[in-house]
Amino acid sequence: MLPRFRSTLLAPTQRAIYFRARPMSTIVPRTEPQKKTLVLLGTGWGSATILKNIDAKKFNVVVVSPRNYFLFTPLLPSCTVGTTENRSIMEPIRHIVGKRNVKFYEAECTDVNVAKKQLVLERTSQAVSSGSDNLKTKISYDYLVVGVGGTYNTFGTPGVEEYACFLKEMTDASKIKRRLKDAIENASFDNITESERSRLLHMVVVGGGPTGVEYAGELHDFMVEDMKRWVPELASKFRITLIEALPNVLSSFDKRLSEYTKAIFEKNNIDLRTSTMVKEVKDKVVVVQNPDGTSEELPYGTLVWAAGIRARQFAHTLREKLPDAQTNHRGLVIDQYLRVKGAQDIWALGDCTVTENAPLAQVASQQGKWLSRSLNMMARDRSVTDTFCQMEERAQPFKYVSNGSLAYIGGEKAIAELPFFNQHITVGGPLTSVMWKGYCLWELFSVRSSMSVATDWVRRALFGRTVSVD
Ligand code: FAD
Ligand code: MG
Repeated sequence: MLPRFRSTLLAPTQRAIYFRARPMSTIVPRTEPQKKTLVLLGTGWGSATILKNIDAKKFNVVVVSPRNYFLFTPLLPSCTVGTTENRSIMEPIRHIVGKRNVKFYEAECTDVNVAKKQLVLERTSQAVSSGSDNLKTKISYDYLVVGVGGTYNTFGTPGVEEYACFLKEMTDASKIKRRLKDAIENASFDNITESERSRLLHMVVVGGGPTGVEYAGELHDFMVEDMKRWVPELASKFRITLIEALPNVLSSFDKRLSEYTKAIFEKNNIDLRTSTMVKEVKDKVVVVQNPDGTSEELPYGTLVWAAGIRARQFAHTLREKLPDAQTNHRGLVIDQYLRVKGAQDIWALGDCTVTENAPLAQVASQQGKWLSRSLNMMARDRSVTDTFCQMEERAQPFKYVSNGSLAYIGGEKAIAELPFFNQHITVGGPLTSVMWKGYCLWELFSVRSSMSVATDWVRRALFGRTVSVD
């Protein structure tokens, strides 16, 4: 029988959180009453970094996330065409927890009571009957860290939610891979019209930020390296269009790098449509407004929306509980100690917050490192635990230091903007691509992941990619 969690209110640290391993077994206390309970929401860049660095001997650490793995997002675009295997970039959270005394709940946090310091967790499970009270659990916290991240932003464009694919989670990458396989297999039938074949093989990417550019680059590689080899009759009909509302792609990068990317895309036959607005997405066509103001309908087989992100729902649920201090509708407002303004003992980091920093993995992970270090340091001094929020006296404010930006643009080329003595240098080309690969292998969360990704790349070089999906 599966382990069951008590669905009743789990007591705060002063008492104990109990976990019933098996209905028949005795109740095992999971937390030590003398320690404060630190609840981390999310298993992304921010929260997973805290989890990796927090001293679990000083806190009762509880992690809550609907995802029981950490996802290495920089390689997500490469999973859509099978350059990298899905599992290689998914780090099981249990591996990060290791043998430390940390409790993990696979659930979504849906509500918070800031006065009582309680959270409501909801899980979906096929092993537990739906509608069952067991699927809702309340837990208490002493300290809460919100790292629930962001989700895609459709900017209210009609049809996007219904017809577009997104590229944020692993399920999105799998969906895109399935669509790609479907397009190729359906386009192979002889009894379809040429225009239908052309539509099926037209891949549209909306958004010229790093995610959209990297995905277009991966698609290009798949076309020239794999389609030409396995389905040469369709490869020449495969088209990639990237639509961007601004006059340039990669507008957060140096102008020279966006020009370089533009030139490479042109050479690689990627149709780049800048200053073009998506007005509506329909079942098989996307309606765009061209720079001259005319409207056009482009038939597509797969449309990937990579046009922006916004804070996840839980960030807004928390904001609504703090109406006086949380007035920015884009996400959680935090101070320079990452404390959620207007709240007691709640910190937030990463894409669910509104700061001057871009929504980047390196921002969230630096915040995670800073916060875990500060919490460890403050917990070391037992006498200050009651005035835990007086961080000004104990820690330096968080400051983000950019390590530069890298993006893969296809054809074994990448671009990079790197800090250099208060300036930055810009580089692009095949050597930068080697650097990008090295960065990915270095940054992956474990040796296991790095080895898996390196093996995937060798396998791809020897035998090609695979988009076989069930
Ligand atoms: P996330 O990493 O998104 O994690 C959020 C976590 O919260 C997830 O585990 C989620 O399941 C969980 N969660 C959601 N809702 C709840 C809830 N209600 N309760 C509990 N848990 C919840 N950045 C870079 O710096 N370099 C790159 O090369 C780069 N490439 C990228 C490529 C792609 C395709 C994408 C999508 C993003 C990329 N980014 C990159 C951006 C980077 O991934 C994000 O900035 C980063 O993930 C933000 O970290 P986070 O911890 O705030 O959120
Ligand atoms: Mg996180």
